[in-house]
Amino acid sequence: MPRLVMKFGGTSVADLDRIANAAKKVKQEVDNGHEVIVIVSAMSGKTNEMVGWVQQTSPLYDAREYDAVVSSGENVTAGLMALTLQEMGIPARSWQGWQVPLKTSSAHGAARIEEIPTDNLDAKFKEGMKVAVVAGFQGIAEDGRITTLGRGGSDTTAVAFAAAFDAVRCDIYTDVDGIYTTDPRIVSNASKLKKISYEEMLELASLGAKVLQTRSVELAMRFKVPLRVLSSFDEDISETAGTLVCEEEEIMENNVVNGVAFVRDEAKMTLVSVADRPGIAAAIFGPLADAGVNVDMIVQNISEEGRTDMTFSCPVDQVLRAENALNGAKESGEINYHGLVSDKNVSKVSVVGIGMRSHVGVAKQMFDTLSREGVNIKVITTSEIKISVLVDRKYLELAVRALHDEFELEHAT
Ligand code: ADP
Ligand code: ASP
Ligand code: MG
Repeated sequence: MPRLVMKFGGTSVADLDRIANAAKKVKQEVDNGHEVIVIVSAMSGKTNEMVGWVQQTSPLYDAREYDAVVSSGENVTAGLMALTLQEMGIPARSWQGWQVPLKTSSAHGAARIEEIPTDNLDAKFKEGMKVAVVAGFQGIAEDGRITTLGRGGSDTTAVAFAAAFDAVRCDIYTDVDGIYTTDPRIVSNASKLKKISYEEMLELASLGAKVLQTRSVELAMRFKVPLRVLSSFDEDISETAGTLVCEEEEIMENNVVNGVAFVRDEAKMTLVSVADRPGIAAAIFGPLADAGVNVDMIVQNISEEGRTDMTFSCPVDQVLRAENALNGAKESGEINYHGLVSDKNVSKVSVVGIGMRSHVGVAKQMFDTLSREGVNIKVITTSEIKISVLVDRKYLELAVRALHDEFELEHAT
């Protein structure tokens, strides 16, 4: 029997009615002749609430206990979904990550999936189970401790199951009816794309479009899993609904820019007057990496009299960790700087498009647009198919809308 993976995000399982609605869609696919693996998120808001509890209890928390707490939301929805399906007469059961077992690295809070043995679920499918409901976001490390895959990680659970079980497709059910040229909650005339390449989606996701977790797109690209995003609130779940993430070759025409992504809560940190010598970058970014700080953009200023300023960006909620790591390195004599300035009020805005590879002038067009709107650019980074800038958070919406207009994304398809 063909296997299908259906993933339901937080808003799609936010209460019992929504779980029942999602279960109806699962039944439709069972009736269509599929064996289904359902991946569920926690009810919307639950994970945030638990993250808050952890931070309140212990600001520099033990990540193993963080995982023990925040993984629990998915257990509730997996059980409830299995019960709902059973009530509808469908043979279903729930699986927590460790029961599968979904084996991961021990990088708590951001673990990577290492292996999903298929034997346990396969045996149950053979016995007549039609639906395996798996708690998303969680796994088990070699030492037996529960891990989580990073925020939004249920998407990655879903794609990994689709790859491991050779599913015909991985359907991600969420609260929007597809992937848009930018977050439709910020730009009302954003357009829905019929298809988008793995590569562009990978950039959009890693640059902040949280509709799919970055790692899920990486896995889909690597294992060539057809990945579809669609709404759990729409009736239509036929093959043409939603947006398909697929190979570039399957898309006839590419726009130069296909999307605008943003990360609202970034911080910009500057080490003022560090000694400019070989090894200084390693001495700064080594301790930051060890402390689990996700450094993104990096700029080193021109050096004067052997000293320079080093600026980098990271998520706002990692500033405390970063400050501790850098102060620690200063105290132990590994680095020496005169000041550490943290600006917690910046956001990152990026434009993405495969067409940039063969099209010059996109950067100029982006910078002109922002300057016309009076938005000051604080840091710039580029790659082959994206340009990112750091701006003051108060200009975030303005910048996103202006760039969306400038690249005429309201007409993108
Ligand atoms: P779920 O709880 O189902 O995993 P998420 O909140 O993680 O849902 O992701 C869906 C949200 O992603 C949408 O509500 C939308 O606001 C946001 N989003 C950001 N960028 C985009 C985009 N380019 N296209 C569609 N949705 C986007
Ligand atoms: N519940 C987790 C989160 O909110 C995982 C997910 O929803 O994908 O991040
Ligand atoms: Mg999500």
